Amino acid sequence: MTASRVLVLNSGSSSVKYQLLDMRDNSRTAAGLVERIGERTSRLKHTPLAAGSGSREWNGPIADHDAALKAVAEELAKDGLGLDSPELAAIGHRVVHGGQTFTRPTVIDDAVLAEIERLIPVAPLHNPANLTGIRTARALRPDLPQVAVFDTAFHTTMPESAARYAIDVETADAHRIRRYGFHGTSHAYVSRATAELLGRAPEEVNVIVLHLGNGASASAVRGGVCVDTSMGLTPLEGLVMGTRSGDTDPAVIFHLARVGKMSIDEIDTLLNKRSGLVGLCGDNDMREIRRRIDEGDARAKLAFDIYVHRLKKYIGAYCAVLGRVDAVAFTAGVGENSAEVRAAAVAGLETLGLAVDDALNAVRGDEPRLISPPDARVAVGVVPTDEELEIAAQTYALVERTN
Ligand code: ADP
Repeated sequence: MTASRVLVLNSGSSSVKYQLLDMRDNSRTAAGLVERIGERTSRLKHTPLAAGSGSREWNGPIADHDAALKAVAEELAKDGLGLDSPELAAIGHRVVHGGQTFTRPTVIDDAVLAEIERLIPVAPLHNPANLTGIRTARALRPDLPQVAVFDTAFHTTMPESAARYAIDVETADAHRIRRYGFHGTSHAYVSRATAELLGRAPEEVNVIVLHLGNGASASAVRGGVCVDTSMGLTPLEGLVMGTRSGDTDPAVIFHLARVGKMSIDEIDTLLNKRSGLVGLCGDNDMREIRRRIDEGDARAKLAFDIYVHRLKKYIGAYCAVLGRVDAVAFTAGVGENSAEVRAAAVAGLETLGLAVDDALNAVRGDEPRLISPPDARVAVGVVPTDEELEIAAQTYALVERTN
């Protein structure tokens, strides 16, 4: 039997999300989530998709990532596909920060682990959790190839003019300060899927990808290669997000410290957790914001307008960066579901060749689709992202190549 399955692990500080995929037909065998690891109220939710049966839930204490992964392995084993299954070809790990070192998916060995560890200062929230997941999985299956797929990798092609901040070069280099970008797996997948939707090769098309989830980022992709993206040293830069401010004048931080007497950690929390849509109106779910707007809520309306204004600025900026734009693709929770955000983001951009057809924009669905009028100069599309499939595909391709 050829091993055709890949387990994708996304390890956060207190959670593990996973999917088991079958690369013969890109189908999902199982998916699940362990959350609140380390607390007494941990929860494991497992959905055996291939079996067609309903989800199984387990509530109770799960002490650490080791216990979490063992519990996941047990659930998978119940469907005959445990971690020891000969059908398992590899484990693919989502790793948030690969710095400038990792430009592509990489088979994990001790040296790779050490390098991911060395990058912790630029990704203090994410890389430690990703490392824990990798170490745990390696301990359980030391013989199985494990691959790291980096959120930053797709953006390593950005030219220096886009990747560098205009700050003192020696200081920046000493602290590895530059724009790395995130959500790269999604931007890679969606830019390729958009080319496919247009029936053209990725090398032929220039695409602006708008990944609008709870975290949000835009990227400019020229012929399949990323040339700019809105997130920077950390995921805080760029678009207005669910709880992150996106772009602000850096002097806001000095002001809050000096005049507001806030500590650096308090400002960090303010800008990352209590800003964006939640800071503006108290809600970060676009559905709730739209409901409030329909009821005449002025704060919700202002939050929506600020969100859209920033989005529009990035669309305009990336039109300028790319010169010629073939398509704009909306993706992730907000991008795939909010016809209002899509319509508002391109409203008034006819001179850039951008427009949305109201009837097409109103259509809901899971498939990639065009929402621009048929004669539009620039195609506007809704292109659902699939980061797990992309991680699994990259992992499998690498393992197949090295076998
Ligand atoms: P994450 O960044 O957590 O992966 P997602 O891509 O799942 O986020 O997006 C989550 C967000 O998508 C929610 O916070 C909500 O704002 C938005 N969203 C989900 N469904 C809808 C919908 N039907 N209409 C508008 N917005 C939606």
